[in-house]
Parts: sequence; C-alpha cells; structure tokens
Amino acid sequence: MQRVAILGLGIMGGGMAANWLAKGFAVSVWNRTRAKAEPLAARGAKVAATPREAATGADFIFAMVADDDASRSVWLGADGALAGAKTGAIGVESSTLTPGWIRELGREAQAKGVGFLDAPVGGSRPAAASGELRFFVGGDPRTYEAARPALAAVGSTMDLLGPLGAGATWKLINNQLAAGQLAALAEALAVARKAGFKDGQISDLILAGAAASPIVKLKLPRMLAEDFEPTDFALNLMLKDARYATALAQSLGAPAGMIEGAAKAFARADAKGLGGKDMAAVAG
Ligand code: NAP
Repeated sequence: MQRVAILGLGIMGGGMAANWLAKGFAVSVWNRTRAKAEPLAARGAKVAATPREAATGADFIFAMVADDDASRSVWLGADGALAGAKTGAIGVESSTLTPGWIRELGREAQAKGVGFLDAPVGGSRPAAASGELRFFVGGDPRTYEAARPALAAVGSTMDLLGPLGAGATWKLINNQLAAGQLAALAEALAVARKAGFKDGQISDLILAGAAASPIVKLKLPRMLAEDFEPTDFALNLMLKDARYATALAQSLGAPAGMIEGAAKAFARADAKGLGGKDMAAVAG
C-alpha cells in the first residue's frame, strides 16, 4: 500500500485527502488548525502533530496551503516535512505559489535526496471533492512518472509542462486571465446597473454574448445575487494570485497593466472585509 502525506486540509487539501483514502492509499494528514483533520481521522487518516511527523515514511508528500510563506513553513525547519522525508520520497507542491519559491524548494528537496514536483491545480471545491482536478506539473519526467498513481487518484487530467517551476508559472498565467475576467465582470456589472439595466436583462445579454467565458458563466449569478457563501475559492487567495501573477509578468518584462488593475479590484474588496468570501465578492 502506498503512503501519502498531505499538509493543508482546506477546501482543496481536504477533498484530496478524502479521495486518497477512498482509493486505498494509507494517508497521514497535518493541518495547522487540527480540528479540520478530525473528519478525515474518522475515515482512517493518521493525524500528525507536525509536517515532519506526517512526512515520515510517506512515499508521496503533498502540500496544499495558502501561499509561499505557508509553504515555506510546512516544508522547511526542524518540524518541516523535508526533515522527516525518507530518501527517495517524492514531494509535490500543489499550492498556487511563485516559481522562484518552487525552484528554491526544489533545491532544498534535492539536497535531502527527495524528488520534487510542482503540481498546482485547476478546478475548485467540486473537482477536489470528486477527484477530478487538473494538474499543471513541472519537474523531471522520471519523477513525474513515479508520482502519477498519487496524482491520478485525485485528478482526472495532468500535463507535464516543463522543468520545475513550469506548473507554478502556468497556474499564475491561468489565474492572471481568470482574475482579469472577474474584475472586468464586476466593473461591467456596476456600469450596467448604474446605466439602468435590470439584473435579468444584464444576465441574458452577458450570457448570450461572446464574452461569456466559463468563469463568467459560473460567477455571474453569484455576483448578481450577492451570494458569496459558501466559499469555493477565497477572494484573498485570488488577490494573492493576482499579485504573484503581476510580479511574474514584471519579472519577464511582459505587460502587466491589466493584472495590476485586477489586483487592485481584489484588494479593494479585501479591504471591505470580503477576503474570506468567495472570489465572486470582487463585485461586492
Ligand atoms: P483554504 O481552504 O483557505 O485552505 C488554506 C490552507 O492553508 C489551510 O489548510 C490553512 O490552514 C493553510 N495555511 C494557511 N496559512 C498557513 C500557514 N502560515 N502555515 C500553515 N498552514 C497554513 O484554501 P484552498 O482553497 O484549499 O487553497 C489551497 C491552495 O490551492 C491555495 O494556494 C490556492 O490558491 C490554491 N487553489 C485553490 C483553488 C480553489 O478553488 N479553492 C483552486 C485552485 C488552487 P488552517 O486550516 O489552519 O487555516
């Protein structure tokens, strides 16, 4: 039986852990707030007191936490996962992070004899719950092949996009586009309402038009209804992604005006106290 450790049991990590358990993996879990581990313990997961303890003996060690700082804290240090990982284990970072941090972490893993991939995901709460995530993977092909059984148990699609950092890079490009569309939708909605259009009309006209992308179709009803709970993807995480995407574009000398503007829209909503609500609250 292969052993998986998962660090971070939020919306995404909690769904992934449940799927590994359902597919017959031996699963050890760690979460900063221990209460989130209890439902998984009832389904057979071993709850660890530290990331190091969770990683001990695991074949695959996944992290699914908020940001670069959280990732650093779960992988490094005396209680970090790399301190407990066995030689030959494979670490997989599935959080949405910066490529620079991913490459630094990859060097730390290599120094410990641990294989390493970045494998951030597409798909939200429903895909995590049903085991149908899409993985954007960076790393070396042999490590990727070795990790495929663990990825396939929680995902339905996976692409090796290039060397370590390629997955993180693509994920930020993906969210650059998503954040831009949501911020633009929120502004268009405000203009339409101020111009006197009724919500039903606005909905019909947007959904019949060429700008009705999948994310616009998904979030428009929630924006119109101001229905920002339950949270599928927290607004403050999209703000983080917009900031990381802005920095990525700038580091590459690419234009960043649109994503900078989107980051400002998410920051304004965050400043109103909407950070923990669904990202549709950019219209709030
Ligand atoms: P979430 O529900 O807010 O969970 C965040 C997780 O990170 C929790 O386990 C939290 O622990 C942990 N965490 C935060 N700060 C920490 C710290 N300093 N040290 C240790 N742990 C810390 O978020 P999520 O939606 O599962 O997202 C997880 C990652 O996936 C993020 O990088 C996000 O951008 C990405 N992502 C999310 C979605 C989505 O639709 N939700 C889709 C694709 C990618 P506590 O429980 O103790 O707070």
